[in-house]
Amino acid sequence: MDIFEQMTGMGHERVLICSNPEVGLKAIIAVHSTVLGPGLGGVRMWPYKSMEEAIVDALRLAQGMTYKAAAAGLNLGGGKAVIVGDPKTAKSEALFRAFGRYVDSLGGLYITAEDVGTDMEDMEIILTETRWVTGVSPAHGGSGDPSSVTAYGVVQGMKAAARWEFGDGADTVLDGKSVAIQGLGSVGLFLAKYLRDEGAKVFGCDIDPEATAQAESEYGVEIVPPDDIYDVDCDVFAPCALGAVLNDATIPRLKCKIIAGAANNQLQDGERHGRELNDRAILYAPDFVINAGGLINVYNELTGAYNQERALRMTRGIYLNLMRVFQIAKTEGVPTAVAGDRVAEERIAKIKAIGVRNWGRLIERP
Ligand code: NAD
Repeated sequence: MDIFEQMTGMGHERVLICSNPEVGLKAIIAVHSTVLGPGLGGVRMWPYKSMEEAIVDALRLAQGMTYKAAAAGLNLGGGKAVIVGDPKTAKSEALFRAFGRYVDSLGGLYITAEDVGTDMEDMEIILTETRWVTGVSPAHGGSGDPSSVTAYGVVQGMKAAARWEFGDGADTVLDGKSVAIQGLGSVGLFLAKYLRDEGAKVFGCDIDPEATAQAESEYGVEIVPPDDIYDVDCDVFAPCALGAVLNDATIPRLKCKIIAGAANNQLQDGERHGRELNDRAILYAPDFVINAGGLINVYNELTGAYNQERALRMTRGIYLNLMRVFQIAKTEGVPTAVAGDRVAEERIAKIKAIGVRNWGRLIERP
């Protein structure tokens, strides 16, 4: 792999290779774009099989954060970090402090947060070495677990999609609609709760029997086997587990009219599968637009004292962001996946054109 070629092709500004053999740290910090603001994105801990695999993941994820922040209208760029290691066995205070020092060395170009394999406790350790960390506990002025806000944002996006699709102007548009949730984890369970409150009929699946038992008993979710979720006759399919679940094998099985869920990178092949959904008249809410609630939540840690009401208000903006994507797709005759990219790319290009780079004033950090 030629890392220079990869960076040039995808447009990354900076990649930092972090190594501290004494504490077992092997990490990569990728900063994709800082045009709109500092590159914010979580740090993933995963037992990558090779350095190449870790670098490619960091580059891809950082680029995704640029699009997510841009489409959400945030003054943030895109960045992401990966730590090579098994989160169940390889975590230590020294490892996260060593990582925190690398984050600090970038002077705010990259701001970290939780991701797969890392949690609030890890962020608290990183906080001892750098102020460029979000997702810390409310006791330290942080916003805590973002999952409920992510789910809240998905509901706003689902309402936008349902109104667009069914031409129903009422705020109760989800009342009586059926939704199939794939993955009843942190986001999926909150989503089930909110949907029940909206009066929707909720189907769901998970490979973890504890998760399905909780969803069934607490929120009345009708449980289906994991592999049957694609066949459920429903209005909305909400992927909230893994990426690449919209692919050649699954798309022909779908009976839904809308796809609106929290999972990242839902389309296996962004261009081709986005077109395929469009051809089948299934309205796809681009994942990075609809699942921005968690990012909006941590962003609010950077703009003065964290205030959940303000974070939720901003998250409600996902409704209009998606309506705009649907409108562009209709006007320009392109799939919604393409329209979502266009919204993000246009904002970045316009801000780049005015040459502003003083985003220090946009971010307050104690
Ligand atoms: P999670 O790990 O808490 O939940 C995922 C759930 O999916 C787990 O319960 C897991 O058992 C289940 N699952 C795994 N494979 C499955 C399969 N084949 N079929 C059915 N269920 C399966 O994760 P989460 O925080 O709820 O995030 C869910 C998705 O949303 C992820 O893709 C994540 O990247 C994305 N996301 C999360 C947030 C957030 O705030 N947590 C923000 C943006 C995007």
